[in-house]
This record gives sequence, C-alpha cells and structure tokens, in this order.
Amino acid sequence: MDIPAASATQRAAILTMAEAEAALPVPGAAAPIANAQASASVQPPGRFAPPFTSIDPIRLFDRFYFAGTTAVGVFVVDTGDGLVLMDTGCSPTDAALVTADMKKLALDPSRIRLILISHEHFDHYGGLQYFKREVCPDAKVAMSLAGWNLLQTVPPEWLYLDPRPQSVDIYLTDGMRIGLGDTTFQAVSTPGHSPGCMSFIIPVTDGGETHMAGILGGGAAWPTQIETRMCQASIEYFRAFAAAARCDVGLTVHSQEATFSALRVRKPGEAHPLVIGTERFDTQFLQGYRDICRHVLDSGRMMPYPALTPRRTRHKVKGL
Ligand SMILES: [Zn+2]
Repeated sequence: MDIPAASATQRAAILTMAEAEAALPVPGAAAPIANAQASASVQPPGRFAPPFTSIDPIRLFDRFYFAGTTAVGVFVVDTGDGLVLMDTGCSPTDAALVTADMKKLALDPSRIRLILISHEHFDHYGGLQYFKREVCPDAKVAMSLAGWNLLQTVPPEWLYLDPRPQSVDIYLTDGMRIGLGDTTFQAVSTPGHSPGCMSFIIPVTDGGETHMAGILGGGAAWPTQIETRMCQASIEYFRAFAAAARCDVGLTVHSQEATFSALRVRKPGEAHPLVIGTERFDTQFLQGYRDICRHVLDSGRMMPYPALTPRRTRHKVKGL
C-alpha cells in the first residue's frame, strides 16, 4: 500500500514549550466554566466507572513509563529536562496513585513540566487538577482547542465534568512538534473518538536503541456513523504520520497490561514485546482499530452513550 508523502505539517519546526504556548492565539477559546457548576450527582459512564484495579507501574522503555490502573493511566517521559505526562487518569484518586507510583519508579513528580491531554473524556483529564494543585503547580497543560471548547461549552450533566481542566497553556495543533530536553513530541489531530482527540509520536529507546512510538489518542468507535467514519479517516491520517516517522511501537492511551505483562518477564537479550516493526504497526496495530470501526459499521450497532446523554435531550427528527 502506498504511503502518502510527508506533508508540510510533518516537517513542522520543533517548538520550545514557550513557543508552543505562544503559537496559537486563543480568541476561539471558550471561557472556563467553574467545576462547581457540575452536579455532584453526575456519575461517570458505567463501563468506565472508577475506581479501577491498580497495576504495578512499569518502565516500558529506557525513560518511558506507565502508571495507572487496569483501565487507563499515565505515560511518563523523562526528557532529561523535566518530566512529561501523557494524560492524568480518571480522577484525583487515580492521580494520587500515579504520583505514588512515580516515586516507586524513582521519578520525582515535582519535575513534571508538561501535561499532554490526549482527549476530552474524563478518564484522561480527571486527575489533572490534582496534579496541578498537589504535585506540579507550574506544569504546563496542553490539549486541543476543540477539546477545551467542548468541555467548557457542553451542559454539565452531559459529561463527567467535575474535574474538567480549568486552564490550558498550550493548544495542541495538528502536526505541532514540541521539544523538551532530548525528546520531541509530535501531536497529530485524530478526531472521531472525540472532536478534539490528539495522537502522539515520540521517540523511545530500549537499551539505547531508538524506536518510534505511535500513541493513538482514542481508537474506539463512538455512537454515530459519522463519528465512526471520522475514526476511520483519522486512523489513515495517523498512519501517514506514523509511516513518515517510521513508528514501530504501537500504543494507546489505555492500559495494555497483556503486553506489559510480557515485558515484566522479559529476559536479557529477548525482543521487546512492544516493538512490532513498521509493517506490523500498520497491518496489526492500526488494523485492530480499523476492524473495530468496520465491525461497528457492518453491525449497525453503535456504542450507546447512555450515561452521557440525558434522555430529555433525545429527540426524533422527521425524515431522518
Ligand atoms: Zn475516550
């Protein structure tokens, strides 16, 4: 299959955090809605109701770690000039767990300088305010403008909003590359799973050998055909970026304990279970997400949003 040529955004300059902060003026940003407006009785969606079972934190690559629960968690990257978190867990409880886990991994949580939020679902931003309040008040927060706006404009009862972000320092844009320490983080816009969903490409090393990790921000298909088809399009869009970067490690922003457990018992000299090669990144890793979308469309069974969409907002439109 032909891979599209690298686009201009793929060759985007590497920005410092300060440059990234200044990169996008924010006239389009919705004003933050205070957390207090979210009803205390609003419950998170059933299937993802925390608390989840914690898993042992793990060093996945030389300076790339995962801490969290069986459902979701946080990637931690040690850039040599501070730590970067990718997502924050579901809740303050999760964030406290991750903070304790980081210490077990000999990572100092006060060194966190940047928190990347992959997308505007509570299981990814829910721990953010705990980190900002209790752990790393000076850390910069980055997410997409679309994600921020969605969280600040939807009615409180629609989503599990209580811990929603109250400020963002960097609005991630498609193809944006941010350099910190010796690591460059590239964001890729992959809407569908949510409107503001971002995926990431970052280098990792295993025993000093460099690999490229492609981290899909959200692969599962959501309720409507249009969202599912948008997921399909975003998978192919991300594939083009991943191919240009030669990604050979496929990750999502959720736990992958089945794969992590193989790494936990890896013996010296054995292959790294997360390094699948550039071809299998496409034919195996991304294909899994293509299959999910295909199944959803073929079956006609969209995943419902029962806990997210109040009954009173549903209505039938004649002729559709
Ligand atoms: Zn999600």
